[in-house]
Amino acid sequence: EKEALKVLVDKPSISKDGHHVELAGNIGTPKDVEGVLENGGEGVGLYRTEFLYMNSQEFPTEDEQFIAYKMVLEGMKGKRVVVRTLDIGGDKKLPYFEFPEEMNPFLGYRAIRLCLDRKDIFRTQLRALCRASIYGRLCIMFPMIATVNEFVEAKAFFEECKAELIAEGVEVSDNIEVGMMVEIPAAAVLADQFAKHADFFSIGTNDLIQYSMAADRMSEKVSYLYQPYNPAILRLIKMTIDGAHKEGKWAGMCGEMAGEPNAVAILLGLGLDEFSMSATSILRARKMVTSLDKKEMEAVAEKCLSFETAAEVEAYVESVINK
Ligand code: PEP
Ligand code: MG
Repeated sequence: EKEALKVLVDKPSISKDGHHVELAGNIGTPKDVEGVLENGGEGVGLYRTEFLYMNSQEFPTEDEQFIAYKMVLEGMKGKRVVVRTLDIGGDKKLPYFEFPEEMNPFLGYRAIRLCLDRKDIFRTQLRALCRASIYGRLCIMFPMIATVNEFVEAKAFFEECKAELIAEGVEVSDNIEVGMMVEIPAAAVLADQFAKHADFFSIGTNDLIQYSMAADRMSEKVSYLYQPYNPAILRLIKMTIDGAHKEGKWAGMCGEMAGEPNAVAILLGLGLDEFSMSATSILRARKMVTSLDKKEMEAVAEKCLSFETAAEVEAYVESVINK
């Protein structure tokens, strides 16, 4: 099967009726770029920068970060690179930073909440990103956005850091897109409002499912509630995509769901523009996209939204795809 998929490496991701989507890779370090390109990735849809911070004895300096971001942008040769700003907290701790004691760290002081509170930490990363921006096509994405105010504040702070650098005589790209992860249900429900401010969305289903079903993504005992195909989740995804499109913005997905072939079929029908997944899933997803008719999948997705349970959705999609 692996050999058969190889022929798809240089093929575009176009459905039978001519609709193009972008299939991108998720990475954790600059070294991972190679795997994305080898597997025919059309971009990086999620660079999880927290590994830079976690594999270090202290906060990485602006120069250290600049080098890493430049490597990724240059490595991708002008293809789109979505860099997520620091998503620390929850289960991801740092040996050199003291987190507050909390009952529910996943609902606590983490990600953009921490960065907006500690602008010194945030500034270093945004400056490094701005400096690296001239080496490729950079998109910056904020994690765990819950309110429009948070996004507006984060974006304004990015603009401030950018202006600061320009005043220092440093060259910064004027094509940086600034978007956000949609991984908190409140953001999905209000997507049409967020889309007036954000250049793009990337749906983080790993957290979106956890928070929507109130089921810890790490817990075995409640893993039966972790249901990507639950119609409630599909409706939140639809609201997000429709909200983006209403304002002429693009919507991607970088949670695990984006790389599941049967989910790809539904998401194509819902109008998702970009799918970002582990590099090894890209060719299988391309095979799925190129074998489907987008118009047909629109009807399939519509029907999925009308079911009561995840099991019904899964059985229906399976029957349509492997007919
Ligand atoms: C997500 O929540 O779906 C996501 C892509 O981010 P992470 O898995 O890093 O939380
Ligand atoms: Mg997440």
